[in-house]
Amino acid sequence: GSLPGWDEVDRLVIEAHAYAKASTDGEIATYIPRLAAVDPELFGVSVAEVDGAVHTAGDAEVAFSIQSISKAFVYALVIERLGHEAVRERVGVNNTGLPFNSVVAIELNNGHPMNPMVNAGAIATTALVPAASAEERWAAIQDGLSAFAGRRLELDGEVYTSEADTNQRNRAIGTLLQAYGRIDADPLAAVDVYTRQCSLLVTAADLAVMGATLADGGVNPVTGQRVVSASVARDTLAVLASTGLYERSGEWLFEIGLPGKSGVAGGIVTVSPGKGAIGVFSPRLDPAGNSVRGQLATRFLSQALGLDVFASD
Ligand code: GLN
Repeated sequence: GSLPGWDEVDRLVIEAHAYAKASTDGEIATYIPRLAAVDPELFGVSVAEVDGAVHTAGDAEVAFSIQSISKAFVYALVIERLGHEAVRERVGVNNTGLPFNSVVAIELNNGHPMNPMVNAGAIATTALVPAASAEERWAAIQDGLSAFAGRRLELDGEVYTSEADTNQRNRAIGTLLQAYGRIDADPLAAVDVYTRQCSLLVTAADLAVMGATLADGGVNPVTGQRVVSASVARDTLAVLASTGLYERSGEWLFEIGLPGKSGVAGGIVTVSPGKGAIGVFSPRLDPAGNSVRGQLATRFLSQALGLDVFASD
């Protein structure tokens, strides 16, 4: 079946927001200094349907940095250009079971990043974006993510500078991947483009539309533009199902029953294939780096809208 009628979805989005707002659990990310300055009370929820309807509640139009959620969409853009097999060989599709910025995971797997949703795999994936220069690579990513959102996404210069000044670990990961022959491009230039992609500003409503583009077989339901092929959208969602919430991916799939992707600024996008997507934003995170209220609101909506792909009733 499809989603219930417009009024019912609108009501449930408002209810999900009210329900999850009660939680003040979790901690705001501080390892990127600029993120620590964000109001922890901000909370937005949005649902975008594959027919183009967009529902919002709370701070759904407040911009925040996309962070790791960019990994899902850059991965889609890369497999659109290079095909899934080329990326699978180099980056993989299995969960590491370790934190997103783990160096140990790389060492344990002989330099293989394991999947495109941890930092190692994302940096390797960004390095694969076909381009003649880092500037061109960045332009392709900014354009591509903007097409998913259906509007021009801009860089948050303060978040970018703050992370670029403090991302020694990601630079180490990039260089380590180069040592293992997993990056052909200049690894530090790839890390810089990766840091920029993480600093793109989005809203919860943008995330819902970006997710709905994957739900709609690669066509943005608001603009009507085809961004990636249906098989690329499918492959991206399959990877998210096992890797989208880092080491909590198994629990997430068990609780919510949908592919999703989180970022440390507090965003989460969750996709219901063929139906639509949920975008949430709230900065307080669980220990793995996933928005606490975002998870609560998403679980509420998954259940209330009957979206769990494993449920037969
Ligand atoms: N830019 C962040 C980093 O590389 C993204 C991490 C995240 O959202 N989990 O550390």
